[in-house]
Amino acid sequence: MSFDPSITQMRAPSETLLGLQQHRLRQILWLLLASFAAVLLINLFKQRFDDAGMMLGILVFLLLAYRWNQRGRLVRAAWCMVVSLMLGLSGLMLVGQGLFDEASMAYPALLVFAGLFGSRRLLQVLTGLMVLNFLLLYALDLFQLRPSIPLAASPIRVFNLSLVVVVCSFLVWQMVSDLRRMMARLETEKQALQSSYAQIEYLALRDGLTGLPNRISAKSHLGQLLQEAQASGRPVAVLLLDLDNFKTINDSLGHAAGDRLLCQVADALGLCVGPAGLVARAAGDEYIILIGDLPDALAVPEVVGRLFQALDKPFTLEGLEVLVTASIGIAVSPLDGEEVETLLKHADLAMHRAKEVGRNTFHRFEASMSEHAVEHLKIASRLRLALSGNELELHFQPQIDLARGRIVGAEALLRWRHPEWGYVPPARFIPVAERSGLIHELGNRVLEQACVAAQRWRELGLGELSVAINVAPLQFQRDDFEARVCDALAANRLPAHALELELTESSLLADAHHLSGVLQQLSATGVKIAIDDFGTGYSNLGYLRQYAVDRLKIDQSFVRRMCSDAHDEGLVRAIIEMAHCLELEVVAEGVEDVEALARLRAFGCEVAQGYHWSPALPMDAFVDFVRAHQPGPAAPLHAQPG
Ligand code: C2E
Ligand code: MG
Ligand code: MG
Repeated sequence: MSFDPSITQMRAPSETLLGLQQHRLRQILWLLLASFAAVLLINLFKQRFDDAGMMLGILVFLLLAYRWNQRGRLVRAAWCMVVSLMLGLSGLMLVGQGLFDEASMAYPALLVFAGLFGSRRLLQVLTGLMVLNFLLLYALDLFQLRPSIPLAASPIRVFNLSLVVVVCSFLVWQMVSDLRRMMARLETEKQALQSSYAQIEYLALRDGLTGLPNRISAKSHLGQLLQEAQASGRPVAVLLLDLDNFKTINDSLGHAAGDRLLCQVADALGLCVGPAGLVARAAGDEYIILIGDLPDALAVPEVVGRLFQALDKPFTLEGLEVLVTASIGIAVSPLDGEEVETLLKHADLAMHRAKEVGRNTFHRFEASMSEHAVEHLKIASRLRLALSGNELELHFQPQIDLARGRIVGAEALLRWRHPEWGYVPPARFIPVAERSGLIHELGNRVLEQACVAAQRWRELGLGELSVAINVAPLQFQRDDFEARVCDALAANRLPAHALELELTESSLLADAHHLSGVLQQLSATGVKIAIDDFGTGYSNLGYLRQYAVDRLKIDQSFVRRMCSDAHDEGLVRAIIEMAHCLELEVVAEGVEDVEALARLRAFGCEVAQGYHWSPALPMDAFVDFVRAHQPGPAAPLHAQPG
């Protein structure tokens, strides 16, 4: 369905003026026709047939003028009316009192008609005819050619009457031309105003960059589709398409190239959807696609497939071929909502789910997403408060060197104890912090507190313990991340090798080029880099060489199952061997028993952490733990009960 913005229909500038003049002329002609018909009847009644004949002649001309006026031939009608009246009045003067006849009093009114409804030429012709009539009447009286001459006319009277007529004509023309000029100016202003309104309306409904309908238009169109769907009972699909990693294109090729990509994507989507739907730009790199009158909800995946196909070709930007992927959220009425706002909100939730599950895919709305969104909002708002209060605390889980049986460091893990909700696990609030942007503040807090803690351990004589912190992918995207790390180390006079940054595999894939640079620089300062939860992400191992990685942390799920599942055991062993080939250290997390510990040792795993030794502990408890289990260099930690 193509979009047709309801731009204000503009009328031709003269159309309204012409209409008004036509209307007035019609009223005047009606009045004249009625008056002359009455005079005709009176003359017939008095058996003054000469006058009656003249009246009849005038009536015929007036009817002709009426007809032309009805057909929109205003000037011709005005000529006809004015000239016939002129001739009629002149005739009356001829048969009546000549230059003294009261009919001449109607001449100025005739001039006003001519000025208002006719042209300048008509006014000039009419003035000329009037003066000629005065001269003719004077000549007839002078040579006594008229039957009755009650009063003798003089040349002075001719001159006076002519002067009155010429002056009247001049004044009328002055007034009328002023009036016309004013009307023309008003018309021009009105036209400018109308075109401004049309422009404003266009801008209010269209996206300035792509020319696509904007969000407001899409909403009103969706409203129409839903109304039509009520009658037809057919579903309406709302698709929200968001480009993946558009920021990278903006950052690397510049905003002008980003804009061109948005236009090219808009064209591709428009071509793909065609007249069967509407493509609108919602904001940034987000497009709304509306499809009404679907045979059933099963037709939606087919449309989605075509959309992916439309994007599955390189776009050319700055001479480069750029590949684009997108995540699509789907909401279909009436199942996923029956109102505009609800459907758009649900499509948005579904789109975010598509992003979460790995991008370049689509997701249909599910009721649980709404609950999820409410929970997200609740947590995000309380987390803001928690950040300003003291509900968040860092706990430290000891990390043990398996060969020496000594505590060599700790992983800092964030704990949130809410006054009403109690303990909130990081798995619940860290993703919310990432999506709401709070992760930057949270991450900085963790970085600073972890450095403070590591320095404190040194001051307390616990030895050269290192501290590992978890860093979310988003934190690396801030340009000042590296500087913040260096500042935190410097502020606590902590050597760089005492700090380890744990990244997940997904952060390595998010923004490869930028991240590689940041990691190289951090690694050059001496900070250690570890890949967390190794084995759960993507299987592309190329990045292990590309990035300055020091350690792999085997995911706890494999470690916990390795004693009961031969596959997991094989996997753990393979990871350790591969890491050693790449000259990387291995940390096993989730060690819960002696059996797992024995196997890890046998495979050559360097470091481990887990409930076998201790869960994450508050600062003071961690210090006590280290003091209790590591009083001297030879304290055998692996012998401690879990
Ligand atoms: P992670 O980095 O893989 O942390 C290890 C998780 O395993 C921690 O859960 C820890 O308490 C748990 N764990 C340690 N030993 C054992 C064990 O023997 N058995 C079992 N079953 N679990 C064990 P936690 O503290 O709930 O943290 C979960 C995740 O939350 C972390 O996974 C990390 O990805 C994230 N997280 C925690 N703190 C932070 C933080 O400060 N910043 C960021 N960005 N993420 C954090
Ligand atoms: Mg970790
Ligand atoms: Mg982990």
